[in-house]
This record gives sequence, C-alpha cells and structure tokens, in this order.
Amino acid sequence: MKTYDVAVIGSGPGGYVAAIRCSQLGLKTAIIEKYDVLGGTCLNVGCIPSKALLDSSHHYEDALKNFEEHGIEIKGDLKLNLKKMMKRKDSVVEQTTKGIDYLMNKNKIDVYQGIGSFKDTTHIKIEGEKSQEIEAKYSIIATGSKPSSLPFIKLDKKRIITSTEALSLKEVPEHLIVIGGGVIGLELGQVYHRLGAEVTVVEYMDKIIPTMDGAQSKELLKVLKKQGIKFYLSHQVSAVSSKGKKVTVTATDKKDKEISITGDYCLVSVGRRAYTDGLNLEKAGIKVTDRGQVEVNDQLRTNVENIYAIGDVVKGPMLAHKASEEGVMVAEIIAGQKPHINYDLIPSVVYTWPEVASVGKTEEQLKEANTSYKTGQFPMRALGRSRASGDIDGFVKILSDSETDEVLGVHMVGARVADLIAEAVVAMEYRASAEDIARMTHAHPTYAEAVKEAALAATDNRPLHI
Ligand code: FAD
Ligand code: NAD
Repeated sequence: MKTYDVAVIGSGPGGYVAAIRCSQLGLKTAIIEKYDVLGGTCLNVGCIPSKALLDSSHHYEDALKNFEEHGIEIKGDLKLNLKKMMKRKDSVVEQTTKGIDYLMNKNKIDVYQGIGSFKDTTHIKIEGEKSQEIEAKYSIIATGSKPSSLPFIKLDKKRIITSTEALSLKEVPEHLIVIGGGVIGLELGQVYHRLGAEVTVVEYMDKIIPTMDGAQSKELLKVLKKQGIKFYLSHQVSAVSSKGKKVTVTATDKKDKEISITGDYCLVSVGRRAYTDGLNLEKAGIKVTDRGQVEVNDQLRTNVENIYAIGDVVKGPMLAHKASEEGVMVAEIIAGQKPHINYDLIPSVVYTWPEVASVGKTEEQLKEANTSYKTGQFPMRALGRSRASGDIDGFVKILSDSETDEVLGVHMVGARVADLIAEAVVAMEYRASAEDIARMTHAHPTYAEAVKEAALAATDNRPLHI
C-alpha cells in the first residue's frame, strides 16, 4: 500500500491548489478525483465555462447591437453558431483542465481516479477503474458542492435544468425561466438573453443578488431590465411542471396572488449544497453540521485531529478563490506554519455586463452594526474612459469610517470592475483610508479613475469630475 504525508480528496480549486502547496512544502502528496478530468466544478461546469459563454455571448451582442454605432457595418446576415460557441467553450475547459494535469505532474503529485472514501482516519479506499487503498498521515476533504433545488421540483435535466445543463444547451431557449436571481441565474440568464432568448427571473427576495450592497442590486436590476430581462421579485415559487417542450412555473407574491409563467426551459439556481456523498465520513468519525457541511474550526480542522476540510464543503462563501486560499492555508498548517486568511476581505464578483464586484462591509451591514460611516459614490458615466467604450452604467461606492476614514467596504458596478476590485482589496488589506486612495495617481483614462473619485467623495466630498 502506498503511503503519503497528505491525501487530498477532490481536485477543484480547493483541492488541486492544496496539493500543489503541500508538494511545494516537501510533503509527499496524493490527490483523488472521482471524475477522469481534474479541476472540479470551477473548471468543468462552473467559473471557466460560464465565463467563456459570457465572453462569447457578449461579442455576439456587441456585433448585433453596438457595432453600428462604432461605424462598423456587417455585410450580410450576422448569424449565431451555437454549436461552435459551445465547442469553443469546451476547448477552453479542456485547455484549462489539461493545465492542472501538467501542474500535478510538475509537482510530483500522485493522481488517483476514483471515489475516495474513508476506511478509518488514516486509510482511504479509492473505487475507480480498479479498487485501491492508500495510507495518509493527513487528509484534506475538498469535495465541493452540487446544485441544490426545491423539494417539489423534479429536475429532469432536459427542460428543468441546473447550471450544469445550462452550460451545454443545444439550442437557444425561446423563453428561459430562471428561479433565483443570484449569481448563477443572472450570469447564465444574461448569456441566453444575449443569444436571443426571452428571460424571466423569479426571485424570492425583494431584490436580486440579495447579499450584495443594496445600491448594487438596484443598479444591476435597472440595467438588466433595460436590457430586456423580466423580473418577478418577492415571488415564492410553488410548483414547476413540464409537458413536452413546455415548462410552467407557478409562484405567489406576498399577498398570495398567484402567477403562472410558461417557457421552454427552467433553470433552477437557488444555491448549492455541500457534497459529502460517498466519503464514508462516519468511518473516520467526522462530524457534519445540520446544513450538511463538514464541521471545521478556525484552522479548518475537522473534529478528527489529522483531517482538514476546505472550500465549498465547509462554511463560508462558495467561491473558487476562497477554496484556493483555504487549500494554501491548510497545507501550511500541516507543514507547521501559522498562516491566516482575512475572511472579511474575500471579494465577490458577478460577471454580468456591467460586472458587479464587492469587498468588505455593505452599507446594510454597517447600519446593522451601528457603525458610523461616510459614503463616496462616483458614476461611471462621468468618466472619459466609459464614454470612449460606451460602458456608462454603474458606479464605484466607497464606505469609510466617519472618524478614522479607514475604508470599510467598496462596491462597484461597471465595465471591468471584476478586475478593479483588486485595488480595493489591496487598500483594505493595508488598512488604507479613503484619502490614501484619493491621493494615489490613477492612470488616465481608465475605469480605475472612478475608484479615486469615489475615494475623494468619501474623504470630504470633493470629487473632481462631477
Ligand atoms: P469543487 O470545485 O466542487 O471540486 C470538488 C471536486 O471533488 C469535484 O471534482 C468532485 O468530483 C470531487 N469529489 C467529490 N467527492 C469525491 C470523492 N468522494 N472522491 C473523489 N473526488 C470527489 N466561483 C468563483 O469564485 N468565480 C466564479 O466565476 C464562479 N462561477 C461559477 C459558475 C457556476 C455555474 C458554478 C456552478 C459555480 C461557480 N463558482 C464560481 C463557484 C466555484 O465553482 C466553487 O466555489 C468552487 O469550484 C469550489 O471549489 P472546491 O474545490 O471546494 O470544490
Ligand atoms: P445564490 O445564493 O447566489 O442565489 C440564489 C438565489 O435564489 C438567491 O437570490 C435566493 O434568494 C433565491 N432563492 C432561493 N430560494 C428561492 C425560491 N424558492 N424561489 C425563488 N428564489 C429563491 O446561488 P446560485 O446563484 O445558485 O449560486 C450558487 C453558488 O455558486 C453561490 O454561492 C455563488 O457563490 C457560486 N457562484 C459564484 C459565481 C461568481 O463568483 N461569479 C458564479 C456562479 C456561482
């Protein structure tokens, strides 16, 4: 039987990064993945394919709606080749997952294909093409998450689908009904809306992207409505049925008024659940919470001394970069170091267009905590860069402490804010004040100038260009 210092179960951005860091630290490492491709949800059916389709559909929409204004005329009909778009997405995924094979090889990590399950606290059985067993001093559970649904919905995966099927549809829906106005619903809803589908979003809360700053929810809703996506907010879905090519979603509003929407596809995107099926956690005595997540302490250690868990399978935001940071942290803990993750500064991004990005406290959270704060907000439309590209929707909003001026939260909607948020993370990691950001030179013309202007507004209400 082969023995290892560390066995990692699951090869998503949590698991494969943990394995690389373990190997960098001189630990003999194995990684176990049940599928025959590495990369987990993120690379295969999550971040990467969704961004490939968002980019492709964005190009299509630009060509259809915006080229003319730029003086670009298309001779002949502009046609969508969905098959080719999907093929490109598949090839982006393939290149990316092959990159993980290369990294495993380079770092001399043994890759096992099969379902990993605990026999006890140091032995893992791997059921793949053949049945094997390995011994590991430490284990890291990185088995991720799966889409969740509502108890009364029967996901047939043909018409009533999850994000996984939505990333590989063979036709553009005529009318896509999306249950859940969160990240997946809006990103994938926008993809198919750009490609020509009618899209209706039914959301239980009174706002979309409900965990983000209220100003972002409002701005994104306004823009998406302007683009033509329909919304039913404060509506609770009570039934979903399909017959032939038709899908019907029934929902009730707060006054119990019932609506019925008919379409040809229904995307269920109401969140994801931690995935521990098949791990045989009980054989190692590992506890799970009542939400089904593996229970961990602040060091991400389970109740079993030598077993850790990271990423979507534990508490916290279900984000690839959070999973990866946790992978690094656990590897370093196992190697005897004392790493730390600043959980308050994990940025979150929605890759719609305009993009939405956030870090730190929202205005709602500051109000609830009775923190005294100042707000500085600057609209993208006042930037030369935005007018040049035509991306005038959105804003940058900075919240800073009333007394110390320390930046407490940065919330953005606009072109390329997914990249701009990094400036806010750096500033907040070093506990910058709004005035610190306001006094730094920002290149002109860039979208980043909105960060400086919002910081000037937060400092003492002195933006220069509004
Ligand atoms: P996963 O990536 O889920 O990987 C877990 C792996 O473990 C899987 O490969 C699984 O097969 C394997 N596994 C499970 N059980 C076993 C077992 N018993 N034995 C062996 N292997 C096992 N996050 C972002 O930060 N940015 C984005 O843009 C983004 N976009 C997304 C878009 C979509 C459509 C979806 C669904 C998710 C998106 N996410 C995004 C979330 C992101 O994918 C997850 O947060 C991330 O993948 C979690 O990483 P992980 O390593 O914890 O788990
Ligand atoms: P989510 O939590 O982002 O959104 C789910 C939405 O569904 C919420 O707005 C919620 O109020 C709503 N909802 C819940 N029950 C409902 C009901 N009965 N009827 C109507 N609406 C209901 O979940 P998701 O969009 O499924 O995404 C899952 C996870 O994947 C998220 O945690 C997210 O972090 C991750 N993800 C991240 C990205 C990104 O970082 N860009 C992209 C996709 C997914």
